[in-house]
Amino acid sequence: MTNNESPTEYQPLQGWDSSLKPRYWLVFHNNDLVLNDQGSVLWSHQPDFIDGDLSSLVTGYWRDEPVASVDINALPDDKAVSTVRSVLTISDPSVFALLSHAIQLRESRKSHQYCGCCGNSCAPVVGEWAMKCQRCQNTVYPRISPCIIVLVSRKDELLLVRHQRHGKASAMYTVIAGFIEPGESAEEAVHREVMEEAGVRLSSVNYQFSQSWPFPHSLMLGFRAEYAGGELKLDQRELCDGGWFKRSMLPELPPLFTISRQLIDRF
Ligand SMILES: [Zn+2]
Repeated sequence: MTNNESPTEYQPLQGWDSSLKPRYWLVFHNNDLVLNDQGSVLWSHQPDFIDGDLSSLVTGYWRDEPVASVDINALPDDKAVSTVRSVLTISDPSVFALLSHAIQLRESRKSHQYCGCCGNSCAPVVGEWAMKCQRCQNTVYPRISPCIIVLVSRKDELLLVRHQRHGKASAMYTVIAGFIEPGESAEEAVHREVMEEAGVRLSSVNYQFSQSWPFPHSLMLGFRAEYAGGELKLDQRELCDGGWFKRSMLPELPPLFTISRQLIDRF
């Protein structure tokens, strides 16, 4: 999802409403999504293998009806799952908005079951997405981690890198990205990340658009920048390859739903 496409089918709730009864369901098993008989992740009825005791979380409205996420512990033998990434690869912006919201609220509920200040248990707050400590009242909202992602160009070329974390088998190249550090502006993070990962200086750093990125709770701030000097020197700890690629001869790129691909396609 970028800022110029608004989801039409999914309307997120702004807080927890325990009175809503779901009409649509997303079913998670571990971190994968359970597919219905049509091969879709969106169930239009409560799956019969879902125990009434499992707590579901309504996160918003899908086509004006409440949609909930639920976690199951045991996958029925006749059901298949799909990874979130592969679902996003073939989905439209509305599904992206639904999954990104649901995954991040689910993650927040799981990781804030206990208070970070006193260790007591936390409970959800009605009307918000917060979790609140039952003893010291410490209140925690879903975490959002800002990252920068930047397309660096040099005339007709762009800087693309291949990450160690994608494995030796992956041939996919992407643009440079990284987390914003405490006390740092987004623009400062752009300059620092590109210097750390590629050793080059930038000019004309301009914000483009953003994307919520549910792996697990990032907000990607997309930038464009121009090469201003320096010898390309890749950070070997994070990158296994990289360089300047001509617009007409690009390598394998990330899938269409990613902000990196959208930045590249605009270039
Ligand atoms: Zn506490």
